[in-house]
Amino acid sequence: MIIQFNLNISQSQRNAIDATLVRLNIPFYDVKTQLAHYLVCTPSSDFDIRRIGELEGILDVHRVNGTHKMVSSKWKVNKTIIDINGRIQIGGNQVAIMAGPCSIESEDQIIKTVEHLKKQGVKMMRGGVYKPRTSPYSFRGMGIEGLKLFYEVCQANDIGIITEVMEAGQIEQMMPYTDIFQVGARNSQNFNLLDALGEIDKPVLIKRGISGSIDELLYSAEYVFKAGNEKLILCERGIRTFEKAYRNTLDLNAVPILKEKSHLPVVVDPSHGIGLRQHVATMALASIAAGADGLLLEIHETPELAATDGQQTLDFSEFEKLIKKINELQQILN
Ligand code: PEP
Ligand code: MN
Repeated sequence: MIIQFNLNISQSQRNAIDATLVRLNIPFYDVKTQLAHYLVCTPSSDFDIRRIGELEGILDVHRVNGTHKMVSSKWKVNKTIIDINGRIQIGGNQVAIMAGPCSIESEDQIIKTVEHLKKQGVKMMRGGVYKPRTSPYSFRGMGIEGLKLFYEVCQANDIGIITEVMEAGQIEQMMPYTDIFQVGARNSQNFNLLDALGEIDKPVLIKRGISGSIDELLYSAEYVFKAGNEKLILCERGIRTFEKAYRNTLDLNAVPILKEKSHLPVVVDPSHGIGLRQHVATMALASIAAGADGLLLEIHETPELAATDGQQTLDFSEFEKLIKKINELQQILN
C-alpha cells in the first residue's frame, strides 16, 4: 500500500496517521521525494484501505501488492516522463536518442561528435569519463577533467550529457556537468551508490546488471526512489547467458515486461546488448519495435581507433543511416 500525503499535511494529521498504522500493526516507511511525500506500507495481510483513506492529510491511498512499490505501475496511472532541461523527454511520444563514444578521449573527439549529433538532430551525448574495466590495465577514463571538457563543448552547443558515475564520492564533483547520471551494469546493485543518487535532483539511468534479473533492476530503481529521487530511467543492456556468439544477450523481452510492471521509462543499449558493430543498428530498430522509450548508442568517428568498445561502436555514416531508419520506423509506429 502507498499513501500519498497532501503537501500541506499538518503535524497532528501526520501523528494520527502514524498512530492508526501502529494500531493496525502495519509497518511503514517514509518516502519524501522532490515531488511528493509518501508512506510505503507493508501490511502482512489484506485489509480495507478505506480505514486509512478517510484520515485527514491524505491525498490518495493505493493498493500495491507485490514486491516493488514506488516504481510499480500499479499505483501510478500515468507513465513517468523525464524532461532533460527542456531539450528532450524520455518516456514521451518520441524515442529519445543518446549517442556518443564509449569513453571521452579528447576535446577534438568531443567537438566532432557534437557536430555530428547536431546534424542528426540528436540532443543528448553519452560518454564515460569513469570507466569500469574488466582489466585494471585497460584505459579507465579521463576523469573529472574529461567531464569538464565534455561539458564545455556540449554547453556551447545545447547538448545534454549522460555519463557514468561509479561511486557515491564522485557525485558532488560531477553534478554541475551532468544531466543524467548513468549507473553501469557492474554497479547496478551498489546500494550505497543508489542511496546517494536518491538524494540528488538529477535524473538517474540504471542499467540492468550483467547477470541481473528484471526484479533486481526494479529493486535498484526502488532504492533510488525510496531515497528521494523519482527521476529514474531503466536500461536493458544485455545479460550474460550461455551464448557465446555475441558479447551479451540483448533481452528485448525485458522492454514490454518492464513497461508493464513499472511506470518508469525504459531505454535500450543495443551497443553493449549485442556487442557487434554490424548488428547494432538492427537491434536498435528491434528495440524501438519492442517499445523502447529511448536508445543509448556508442558512436565514434573512427571506431577502430576508439579507446574502448570500438568493436560495438557505429561510425558516423552508420549512425546517420540508423537515424533515418529510426525516423521512418517511428512514423510507421505512431
Ligand atoms: C558503457 O555504457 O560504456 C558501459 C560501461 O556500460 P555497461 O555498464 O552496460 O557495461
Ligand atoms: Mn562501452
